[in-house]
Amino acid sequence: MDGDSKRRAIPLNSLDNIVTQRIAIYPGSFDPITNGHLDIVKRSLGIFDKIIVGIAVNSRKQTLFSRDERLAITREVFATDARVEVDAFEGLTVEYARARNACAILRGLRAVADFEYELQMANMNRKLHENLETVFMMTSEKSFFVSSQNVKEVARFGGDISELVPAAVARVLAAKFGKSIR
Ligand code: ADP
Repeated sequence: MDGDSKRRAIPLNSLDNIVTQRIAIYPGSFDPITNGHLDIVKRSLGIFDKIIVGIAVNSRKQTLFSRDERLAITREVFATDARVEVDAFEGLTVEYARARNACAILRGLRAVADFEYELQMANMNRKLHENLETVFMMTSEKSFFVSSQNVKEVARFGGDISELVPAAVARVLAAKFGKSIR
């Protein structure tokens, strides 16, 4: 190799990074984001280079927080980690994943009750996009009982949710229900 071509050569490992950056879409309602979601994202960063938290906007699904509120809260929670992007999308997760060059859909599993629905979704998604894997992460023991639904129920009645959600979420829930934070 002469001096000139040496200078122009692209280091192989940087090329690898461009080609094989492993991006996963973590789709969900995130109404609101909880420590259970957070735990899944943190642990999956050991497997993927980048996680896109995809806030699914579904006009038929009633949510406590609007699309823009969920985007703002979730972005605040991940503000310090450049490997996590927060976005909103409408329509099929597989199409969104394709558009974002993701190699996987990330989902969390808590109880057996989650399993049947998740299995159906994963199979349907594979039918729609055969190269896209769904990767499941088991909840950790401290989060297995945490869901957006029960966090909202507890917050509505003024219960203490400080160990179940990030501080920013506790604040917006208290504001939503007109309660003070304990
Ligand atoms: P969806 O309406 O799609 O179920 P959610 O925001 O409720 O959206 O959940 C998004 C994903 O995160 C789902 O795969 C769900 O099972 C998972 N998840 C939610 N809470 C937890 C938790 N505490 N531990 C592990 N996974 C969780």
